[in-house]
Amino acid sequence: MKISFVGTGPCTPEPGKEVASFLVDGRILVDTGWCNVLKMLEQGLNPLNIEYLIFTHMHHDHYLGLPQLLFYLACRKILGVYKPPRPLTIIGPSKQLRKIVATSQALLQIRRYPELAIALQIVSLKPGATFKGAGFVLETMAAKHSSGGKLREEALTCKYTDTALAKSFVFTGDTSFHPPIAAFAKNTPLLIHDACHTSPGDAAVVAKSARAGKLYLIHGSNRVRSLKAARKVFKNSFWAEDGKRVEF
Ligand SMILES: [Zn+2]
Ligand SMILES: [Zn+2]
Repeated sequence: MKISFVGTGPCTPEPGKEVASFLVDGRILVDTGWCNVLKMLEQGLNPLNIEYLIFTHMHHDHYLGLPQLLFYLACRKILGVYKPPRPLTIIGPSKQLRKIVATSQALLQIRRYPELAIALQIVSLKPGATFKGAGFVLETMAAKHSSGGKLREEALTCKYTDTALAKSFVFTGDTSFHPPIAAFAKNTPLLIHDACHTSPGDAAVVAKSARAGKLYLIHGSNRVRSLKAARKVFKNSFWAEDGKRVEF
């Protein structure tokens, strides 16, 4: 399996750093960052290969790239080069997903420009639910995440399993330190953990307790990038970097 880190930064972009998002095996995008399409193209990744889009939660830094992605795919559809075998499946937490997708379509003025419509399948998942896609299974649990106003956010921590390879990895999405993630991620070869709402040291505690193979910290500012605290607890700790690819 191959993970391509499209963006790894905090909630607003920094020079050379897009907001956290990544691509699984070139066809499953997790969150859209701010300007994901541009970043993918710069990194030699093809947005036309995206078959599934998974939103960990519906905070702005994780979905602002959606209208641009839909516009890009629509433009390539009009040119006849985007011919997906099935509708683009957009998966996310149940409460806000449909609203955000509908708002993105409204922003593209789909009613005035119906040629910009592309086929979509929307799958709302409550934390704890499981989704079966083509070649993979996605299991979820509730992350522990609040917005600035202390509003509890419906946010997914996910275990992705490639059914042909029988290989899994876990990504937390945005979460505060949440020890139950360790049981969910037990023996995972790869844990991608938020380092914006959890300190690197605490993320390492989760990785150690899960007996993970490697910990990749994501969603961190250039200012806080130190591995010292994490490696003290769990030596196979790394920062994800924009454009980095990890195979396992
Ligand atoms: Zn975030
Ligand atoms: Zn968030």
